[in-house]
Amino acid sequence: MKQVWFVVGSQDLYGEEVLKTVAERGKEMAEWLTAKLPYPFVYKVTAMSSSQITDVIKEANYNDDCLGVVTWCHTFSPSKMWLTGLDLLQKPWCHLATQYNLEIPNDEIDMDFMNLNQAAHGDREHGFIGARLRKARKVIAGYWKDERVIQKLAEFERVCAGVDFSKHLKVMRFNDNMRDVAVTEGDKVEAQKKLGWEVNSWAVGDLVKEMNAVTDAEVEELYQEYCSLYDVNTDNTDAIRYQAREEIAIRRMMDRNGCKAFSNTFQDLYGMEQLPGIASQHLMSLGYGFGAEGDWKVSAMTAVIKKMGENENGASSFMEDYTYHLVENAKYSLGAHMLEVCPSIASGKPRIETHHLGIGMNEKDPARLVFEGKAGKAIVVSLVDMGGRMRMIVQDIHCVKPIMEMPKLPVARVMWQAEPSLEEGLECWITAGGAHHTVLSYDVTAEMMRDFAKFMDIEFVHIDKNTTAENLEDRLLVNDLIWKLR
Ligand code: MN
Repeated sequence: MKQVWFVVGSQDLYGEEVLKTVAERGKEMAEWLTAKLPYPFVYKVTAMSSSQITDVIKEANYNDDCLGVVTWCHTFSPSKMWLTGLDLLQKPWCHLATQYNLEIPNDEIDMDFMNLNQAAHGDREHGFIGARLRKARKVIAGYWKDERVIQKLAEFERVCAGVDFSKHLKVMRFNDNMRDVAVTEGDKVEAQKKLGWEVNSWAVGDLVKEMNAVTDAEVEELYQEYCSLYDVNTDNTDAIRYQAREEIAIRRMMDRNGCKAFSNTFQDLYGMEQLPGIASQHLMSLGYGFGAEGDWKVSAMTAVIKKMGENENGASSFMEDYTYHLVENAKYSLGAHMLEVCPSIASGKPRIETHHLGIGMNEKDPARLVFEGKAGKAIVVSLVDMGGRMRMIVQDIHCVKPIMEMPKLPVARVMWQAEPSLEEGLECWITAGGAHHTVLSYDVTAEMMRDFAKFMDIEFVHIDKNTTAENLEDRLLVNDLIWKLR
């Protein structure tokens, strides 16, 4: 079972009784936190020597169930003994600077209490070695039962799950990128080295063969599932069944090859009647990543961000900035795609509709889910290849109920206000080279993406309410120098 390990720091100067208490408390804290966190928080050891620490870190590196390591120094724990172990650590690391007791016990406090409860300086020694090693880490400080600490630990665990998932992610591409498009391109070798993604292509002809092998009974079963999940708002049920056939075939090919994300392009639908619409949308709702126009980067990021979401499949979707409402005091971005937006972000029950799609090789009108995105705080995430490194750009946004009905718009739509404002946010986004394709997420935060980028050793750029185009430009200039030196 996937889990996060808790390693408590100490040393052997304190005597058996103190060390026994430290171990008991470590266990107690881990059990209490496990009940609050998305993944088991497992107490491993009270570490007292270099060899002990090195052993547990090596075990963490090689144990496939271990997603990451949280360390805390209950007592003082000299950090030279952590140096070798931490240097070897290949899993995400969080330093939890906490203490067992909430209060200073006025009547009881004596030197024994002080020796046992030395986290205040033990954690500083521990912090120094992290800084000295320049080791990527998440630092969380506060009382372990505080809501803020629990929330941050939960987010750290979900980032760990994202890192683990990313390192094993395989992406299935049908054909290449849309012709001539730059931002969806990228160095797949670099992506595999840094992010772990194995990105390979399969022939559309093989998918068509797979589609032909799907039985009518299988198609009917998925069609009925669509009808139970969504409102059918078309008489063209053949188009819906065709989408079911596409979904089953795509999923079969992905599952057979261990892939959890895919991309396709409307420029190559040889042997297919429709660009996958519901097929891609429903697959996304099951946690598969998707990227249109051959965009394997956004496809992989969609899958990773979904994994980091609530219940390992959050409210996140492939997204594209389409058009703006630039009216004073009502400035909004309209996000959508020609078909493929994940219903996990819908505010109500999606409708199945069929409409003509002029772009691409569609012989017939593709069936798709049409809905409004829900209101709420969210982020949009873009990953671009800067040549020599990957840059992740994250912008804070506020989604709203779309301010107009747009009755002729035949696709799912999301409307939002961007930070710091539509114009300056856009100036920042364009300055940073952010793509039109993004992942939009309601339940993964910018802080989580920052930590993910840190553990994956890629550049991170955050556009939030305090960002100005001027500051960002300077920051990007510095980043460019730093990343060239690395
Ligand atoms: Mn697109």
